[in-house]
Amino acid sequence: MMRVEAMMFVTVVSFALVAVLASAACASDGVFTVRVGDLEVSMLSEAQRDGGLDILIGASDSDIGKFIPTGKYPSAVAVYMIRSASGVTLVDTGYGANLELNMRSLGVSPEDVKELLITHSHGDHIGGLLKDSAPAFPNARVSVSRAEYDWSAAMRESLGKYGDSVNLIDPGALDNGAEVMPGVLAIAAYGHTPGHSVFMFESKGERMLFWGDITHAMAIQMPRPGVSVRYDSDPVEAAKVRRLLLEYVSSNGIPIAGAHIAYPGIGDIVPDNENPGGYRFIRKD
Ligand SMILES: [Zn+2]
Repeated sequence: MMRVEAMMFVTVVSFALVAVLASAACASDGVFTVRVGDLEVSMLSEAQRDGGLDILIGASDSDIGKFIPTGKYPSAVAVYMIRSASGVTLVDTGYGANLELNMRSLGVSPEDVKELLITHSHGDHIGGLLKDSAPAFPNARVSVSRAEYDWSAAMRESLGKYGDSVNLIDPGALDNGAEVMPGVLAIAAYGHTPGHSVFMFESKGERMLFWGDITHAMAIQMPRPGVSVRYDSDPVEAAKVRRLLLEYVSSNGIPIAGAHIAYPGIGDIVPDNENPGGYRFIRKD
């Protein structure tokens, strides 16, 4: 009897230990922070995983052999948190998987979030909007493009719980974004979805573009920006927008943060001399 109890105790303790180690690993591996002027930008990882070839559209066999020789490539789902003197902003909400844990590891609680900027309505971006059918960020204003809101029933349903806190925006052109809050411009980057928007933050002359789903498979979409994915509502338009943004950020030296770029998710874009028309991603760390 004593022996059984002792064994049970050991089992319970090791389960608890595994749980603690797992959450600690998640909090440290899942977060990466850089400064942009006065802003503190943190990548909060929802998932790090390999992507498959089945989602690619327009990739030749020779390019796949050259850029994705193993048949799989690093991918991720990430949320970005921007802290400034005026408060906490989130760009997207991921699945809502590790988001709260990652935020709390940085001393931020969901109630602290003042602004939520949504790139588009797919589940890996708005899945964290609600918790137990109530707003997960009760004090946040939620901004999303009118085009996306009109297109997506899922978006309207999730935002219904936010009532008057929903702010429908009309994003502007790449060189003429629409101000959504001080220091933040919303730019129309339609193609991945009919209302997909990206957000340009500026502080003390430094900028960073949060580009949502402009890429899903960096390994091939950097050297070959014409490659799109099955998740793109309009693969041709998505490729056109991707090329425009890549040219803009590389020629202006603007770092980018992407929702599906593997850890650390943030980096610079430079022209790829070996692949004309292509680019290279240089991660921040
Ligand atoms: Zn996505």
